Amino acid sequence: MSDSEPPRRKILSLKSGVAAPGGPKPLERIARPAQRIRTFTPEPPPPPAPPATGDFKCKPCGTRFDPPTDLADDDSVRCPSCNARLGLVSDFRADPPNVEKLRARYLKKPG
Ligand SMILES: [Zn+2]
Repeated sequence: MSDSEPPRRKILSLKSGVAAPGGPKPLERIARPAQRIRTFTPEPPPPPAPPATGDFKCKPCGTRFDPPTDLADDDSVRCPSCNARLGLVSDFRADPPNVEKLRARYLKKPG
């Protein structure tokens, strides 16, 4: 008396998806969204440049400046930008300035 073996069920390995009608969906389409619209942010206008002030212009670097008012006449004026010695305060303060002695240009036009 032997029980017959239970019939083995054939396990059908269903490969789901792969054999789906129409094939797998092209993922590329999904992954790639419609062309991204770049939000165009207009650049803010540059801040208005401070008006070039100063009656003198440093010859070495071209920076405009005003001779310091808190120096003695025999002190040296230095360029606020490149720190070059540009001449004596007295020569800056002279009227008209002793530009021959200065390493700076006098920009103010007389009158
Ligand atoms: Zn300078």
